[in-house]
Formats: sequence, C-alpha cells, structure tokens
Amino acid sequence: MKREYYEVLGVSRTATKDEIKKAYRKLALQFHPDKNPDNKDAEEHFKEVNEAYEVLSNDDKRRRYDQFGHAGVGSSAASGGGGQYGGGASDLGDIFSAFNDMFSGGRQRGGGAPFGFEEVFGGGGRRGQASVGIPGTDLKIKLKLTLEEVAKGVEKTLKIKKQVTCKECNGSGSKSGASESCPTCHGAGEVRQASKTMFGQFVNIVACPKCGGEGRIIKDRCPACYGEGIKLGEVTVKVTVPAGVESGNYLTLRGQGNSGPRGGAPGDLIVVIEEIPHELFSRNGNDVIYTLAVSFPDLVLGTKVEVPTLDGAIKLTIPPATQPETMLRIAGHGIGHLRGSGRGDQYVKVNVYVPKELSHQDKELLKDLKKSAGISPTAHNDRNAKSFFEKARDIFS
Ligand SMILES: [Zn+2]
Ligand SMILES: [Zn+2]
Repeated sequence: MKREYYEVLGVSRTATKDEIKKAYRKLALQFHPDKNPDNKDAEEHFKEVNEAYEVLSNDDKRRRYDQFGHAGVGSSAASGGGGQYGGGASDLGDIFSAFNDMFSGGRQRGGGAPFGFEEVFGGGGRRGQASVGIPGTDLKIKLKLTLEEVAKGVEKTLKIKKQVTCKECNGSGSKSGASESCPTCHGAGEVRQASKTMFGQFVNIVACPKCGGEGRIIKDRCPACYGEGIKLGEVTVKVTVPAGVESGNYLTLRGQGNSGPRGGAPGDLIVVIEEIPHELFSRNGNDVIYTLAVSFPDLVLGTKVEVPTLDGAIKLTIPPATQPETMLRIAGHGIGHLRGSGRGDQYVKVNVYVPKELSHQDKELLKDLKKSAGISPTAHNDRNAKSFFEKARDIFS
C-alpha cells in the first residue's frame, strides 16, 4: 500500500511550501544514496521522498493529489508504482535527473533558488554558497598609455562610473531587508512550462516571470534604489599595468565591475589597453625605432650625436662611412618584457639629410666636391648599370 505523500515527508496536509521544502531537504539528505551506499531501504526511501516532493512542491499537482489522491497525479502512482518515475523499480538515474532538474536551472543562471543539489549535499559545487540577487555585469573601460608608461609599467588610479551597492539598503533593495520566497516559483527561480505537440509533451524550464529568476521578492522597496539594490556611483580603482603591454591587451579585475542587483555577485572590470602613438618613436615588439637624419659629411666622416630615448637624451656615435638606413642599436632602452625581465632595445635608423634649399656658396662647394673621383659611385657600378640597360634593350626591342 502506497504511503500518503504528507506522511512520507512527515508534514501536515496544511503545510506551507517552506515547510515541505524543509522536510524534503532533511529527508533527502538522510536517505541520499551517497550517504547510504548499498542500502536498498534507504534507496527506496529516497525515491519515495522525491516522489512526494515532486507532487507536493507543485501547486497544481498538490491540488489534484489533495482531491483525488495518488490517482490524481499519475496512473501508475495509484497502482503503487512510482508516479512519473514509471514504477517502483525505476532506476535511480531517472530520479537524479528529475531531482537535478528540480533545482539546478535557476541556480546555474545565478537565480535565487534557496538551496540546490550541490549545496544540500555539500558535493563539489561550482559555487560555495547559495547565490542571491542577479549577478552584476562586467564593465569594460579603455586605458590610454604613453609609450613611456608601457616601457616601464605604471600604476594608474582610475575614476570609474559604475553600478555600486546601494548604501541605504545594503544592496538588498528592501528598506527593512525583508524578502519572501516568490509565490510563483516557490523560490526555485524557474518555472516549468509544458507544451503539447504532435510529437508528445515537452517541458521547458524558463526563468520565473514573477521574480525574474531570483526566487525571492523583496518587501518594502528601498526608495533610494527603487528596490534594485544598486545605484550609479563613482569609484576609484588602482590598476597596476605591467611593462610591455600593447593595444588590445586587457587586464581583468575580478569583482570590480558593476555590483549585482539585490546582493548579486559583482561583475569584473576589464581594462583594455590602448597605446598612444609616440611623436618620436615607433614600436616594433619590444624594440623602439627612432629615425635620425644625418648630413652627408657626417655619414662619411662619422660623428657623435645626441638622440632621445625613453629614458632621456643619450650620446650616440655614428661611425665613419655609415650607409643610409643603417640601424644603430642602443641596448636596453626599449620596452620592458611582459614576461620575464629586461627591456628591448632602441634602434636609430639613420637617414641622409638632403637640404631642399642651398646658399650659392654651398652650391659651389658641392659642385667642387662632385669633381672629385671618390665622391661618386664607382666605375664598377657604372659598368653594371650599362650592361643592364643593354640587356633590357635587347629584351624589349
Ligand atoms: Zn537601496
Ligand atoms: Zn519566482
């Protein structure tokens, strides 16, 4: 003979939702197979408890059960079978999937189920505790950095506008801090919607429309935040940027994003780096390149010049006979390595300076210089050029 569901859970016929949930929670814990390995009796009890809860936790089913008994909630239930589990001998796997179903959805979405499978049984849950409210959103901000800051790393203090916890209600959204279990989903944060199609009945689990998946409804809304538990505010955040970052890199500051409505966990603050182009240097990985125009006589004879670096001016020797486009290296004055220590180098790209205007005197000097045999490309180069043009003529004629 099948036992009364109320009897199974040890509650009265007038028990409230919460009382039923509490009773179920206690019994499910007591008879859970994990705690009673190889105990057939416990397993049967566990099934029985789940079946009872499945019916009594559902308003509709409970009403039918109250009116018609076991017959009202499934054909097999009346004949001593296992209700929706398809008979007393149904395997535990089915129950577990139904059992998980009952609690998991809302919790995984961050909804406010007052307890969930993992929490009840203390087993490897991804969350350590029941979540409340709605999780806060991530906040993305752009942080512009000069090349000097990128080179050595920098600590920045940022003022950020974001959703902060309402101080008036401590983030609860309620003036008195009171809330009640949502009457529509009974705290689960989700509701089942059955739809009949030609292929059979489908059950969808959707966020509860009444409480928006939170499982709880606040009483006497906080006037400062209109019951949201969050307000727009401004905070200062310290960000430590390591050397060597580049545009598009980002730093994630956990929990520094928007606060969550009604006590929800805060989102993250994502700081996206943007490098401001430097007026003197261009960047190539961890090296910086500086272009320097040098006069023809200086390239030929060699000279000492002063060049800017990210660390201030430095003396650089241009050796004699330096060719245009030569890259002269200044070790260790580049960008700090993001991983590991040390810095890249600075390269000075040497260009020949060609004046656009000349005094009459300079022109005469250059004309004199031109007469000198050593100043023009060699006869060897001339010969190569000549034979090249002859070949080209042969081809195109
Ligand atoms: Zn408030
Ligand atoms: Zn609800």
